[in-house]
Amino acid sequence: MELKDKFGRKISYLRLAVTDRCNLRCKYCMPAQGIAIVPRKELLTYKEMYRIVRVLSELGVNKVRLTGGEPFVRKNFIHLLESLSFNNKLDQINITTNGALITNYISKLESLNINTINLSLDSLQKNKFAEITRRDVFEEVYKTLIALENSNLTVKVNMVVQSGVNTNEITDFIELSKTKNIAVRFIEEMPFNGKGQRHIKEVWNYNKILHHIQNYYPKVVSVKTEKTSTSHMYKIPDYKGTFGIIPAFTRTICNDCNRIRITATGMFKNCLFDGGVFNVRDFIRNGASDNDLKNLFIETVQGKPKNGFIAELNRTSKVSESMSTIGG
Ligand code: SAM
Ligand code: SF4
Repeated sequence: MELKDKFGRKISYLRLAVTDRCNLRCKYCMPAQGIAIVPRKELLTYKEMYRIVRVLSELGVNKVRLTGGEPFVRKNFIHLLESLSFNNKLDQINITTNGALITNYISKLESLNINTINLSLDSLQKNKFAEITRRDVFEEVYKTLIALENSNLTVKVNMVVQSGVNTNEITDFIELSKTKNIAVRFIEEMPFNGKGQRHIKEVWNYNKILHHIQNYYPKVVSVKTEKTSTSHMYKIPDYKGTFGIIPAFTRTICNDCNRIRITATGMFKNCLFDGGVFNVRDFIRNGASDNDLKNLFIETVQGKPKNGFIAELNRTSKVSESMSTIGG
């Protein structure tokens, strides 16, 4: 038994949101006052998450990314990682974090064989960082970057390219990859911010970001990546690290998509742009067996839309919810 959709795409990657809460208030992700967080009992418990991952891993999911909200905001997040690390069907356990709370956990993460940490960092300037995140924690996050770089974890830095805000730092981020063995990834901004599409004077999409970079670095070369990768990767010759661009909004990567998502409240999503397909939490709390779960997962991925545009068209509501509730 495996998870395959009607277009023949094999599903092997789960993005699981551990919480909808966050310690930052990034402007592109949520409003200043934050989002209406759900009561704690509506969040999946760690036991439920562990079980969902186990059942999915028996259907061929071998890679899990834990995200949120901010995963390290949830109490005892390390306990979840410990239990998942016993699942030998998983080849990779990865985490996406804002890095403000994790410096003390890095050696623990190494000992649990966590593979990749995606660190969100949108500015290398303290004041601008505070303006974007609405919190003054640049120093902590930068300290995390240095500590991660010195660890045996693979490090990716995610920078959301925000027109009129941080595009003048794109090359500074590439310079980070000169001496650091990291992958910097530029992400197209999407309207998942709690309000919907913001007014943008200049659209910074994949092509514009790439041309901007090529203007500065005519010697950019592309780097081969896995077919299912969300980013197209590049390198400046002689630089230690790499950089990539994620066409999150122009959605040119859907053909090779191998991902599903489960939100912090247990909503199953076949696509980032769909509105949620069914609630796994309620199904479990109503007494579903492992077999019931497996059958439901197999049936549900059949409805995976061909691409993010079709998913968006089929929604009943506009794309405007916060990434923090979806799990980025
Ligand atoms: N709090 C963690 C963090 O910031 O890394 C994990 C959750 S966050 C929602 C996951 C990723 O989604 C981050 O890299 C963040 O930059 C990205 N993200 C959030 N809102 C976005 C938006 N509107 N457009 C593009 N990326 C977004
Ligand atoms: Fe929090 Fe991450 Fe959203 Fe920023 S992007 S508000 S850190 S969930």
